[in-house]
Amino acid sequence: MTEIATDFTCTPALWADFRALCGFGGRLCGTPSEDWARDHLAAALAAVARAHGGTVSTLPMDYDGWTGGAAWLDLADGTRLAAEPLVGSPPVRDLDLAVVDLGRGGPDEAAANADRVPGALVLARHEYMFSTRTIHRSRKFAAAVERGAAAFAMVGPEPGRAVTGGANFGGPARVPAVGLAPEAAARAAAAGRARLTVEAATAPARTENLFLDLPGRSREWVVISAHIDGHRLAQSAMDNATGLAAALEAARLLAPQVAGWRRGLRVCLYTLEEWGLMGSAHHLATQPADAHRAVALDINLDSVAGDPHLAAMTSGFPALEPFLAGAAAGLGLELDFHRPLLRNSDHYNYAMAGIPAFRLVAGFERPESGLRFVLTDGDTVDRVDRTDLERATRLVATVAARACAGDEDFRIGAAP
Ligand SMILES: [Zn+2]
Repeated sequence: MTEIATDFTCTPALWADFRALCGFGGRLCGTPSEDWARDHLAAALAAVARAHGGTVSTLPMDYDGWTGGAAWLDLADGTRLAAEPLVGSPPVRDLDLAVVDLGRGGPDEAAANADRVPGALVLARHEYMFSTRTIHRSRKFAAAVERGAAAFAMVGPEPGRAVTGGANFGGPARVPAVGLAPEAAARAAAAGRARLTVEAATAPARTENLFLDLPGRSREWVVISAHIDGHRLAQSAMDNATGLAAALEAARLLAPQVAGWRRGLRVCLYTLEEWGLMGSAHHLATQPADAHRAVALDINLDSVAGDPHLAAMTSGFPALEPFLAGAAAGLGLELDFHRPLLRNSDHYNYAMAGIPAFRLVAGFERPESGLRFVLTDGDTVDRVDRTDLERATRLVATVAARACAGDEDFRIGAAP
C-alpha cells in the first residue's frame, strides 16, 4: 500500500468557504443564490485543479423550475396565518377547505381518518430527520394525497418557525403544500376551516452539477459528494454549506498526494438534491455501467456539522463499517453507524446503482441538537461550531485518503 500522510490540519479556507456560502443565502434552485454559490465552488475547485493537475467540469440539466411567492391561510374570523410554500407546490387562491389535523400524520393516521381526509387540508408534523424512528415527510405527503387530500401542510416543531422543504419528490407536487409554524397550525385546526392561498409559478429551467477530477494511478475513483442547493428561509448553513465546505477542503488537503495513489479523487457537487435527489440521479443516469463499477466509494457529505457527534449511514454495505471505524479511531473520534439505506440524500442514488456509499451526518439520534433547525429559518451560520466542522472534515479527508491509497473492496458482503 502506498504510504499516506493523514495527519491533516484544516486550513483557514474551510471556515472562509463555509461563511461565504452562507453569505450567498439559502441556495434554492433557480435563484441567484444558487448561482453565486456555484460560482464560488467552481472557482475553489479550479484553484485546486490548477495547482495539482486536475480537471473541473459541469453537467447541465434541464428541469421544471419553480418559483414560490407568499402563502397564507385566511380564517373566517379575519385572521391571516403566514405559511411557506413547499418547493413544487402548485399555486392556488382562496381555496376554502376543511382542516383535518392528523397529528404525526403518517400512513396510519391517514388510514384511521380516511373518511375525513378527502377534499381537506391535512396537517402533519415534521419530525427530527436524523433518527431511525422518523417517518419521512415524503411518506406523509403521499399518504395524504393518496387518500384524497386537497392540500397539505407540514407543521414545524419549533415555536414561531415555519418549516420548508420539497413537496416534489421526484415529480411535480400534485396538491398545494405549505409549511406552517406550530402556532398557526393550532389556530387553523381550532377553526376547522381555512382558505388557502399559495403564490407560485413554474417555467423550464436549467442548472448544473459541478465536478473536480484528480486522477490516481488506476481508472478507479473515490467520490466525495455534497449538495449545493437548499431553501430560501435562511442560509441552509448546516444543510448543506457544511458539506460543501468540507468537500472543498478535503480536495485541497488531498490534492498534493492523489496522483501517487491507486484511486483518483472525484468531487461531485450536486444540485436539485432538495427536489428529490434529481441532480445525482441525472449524473449517474448519464454514465455507463462500467463507470459505476469504477467508483470504489461515495462519501456523501450532508449536514456534517451543527453537533459534535457524527454518524455514517452505511446503506447496506457492511464492509464500510470496520473501515470507517478504523479511520475514526485513528483520529480519536467516535462514529455511530446506521445500516439501512435511507432515501434522504444523494448517497441513495449511488447505493441504488450498486456503488458503495455512505452519508456522513451530524446529530444522528440527537433531536436536541442544532440540527433540529434544518429546513427552518434557524439554519444559520451561527449554529455551526468551527471545531465541529474541522473535526468532520479531518475524518472525511482521512477516509478518502485511505480509500484512495488502499485497495479495499467495499462491495463485499452487500446484497446484489
Ligand atoms: Zn441535505
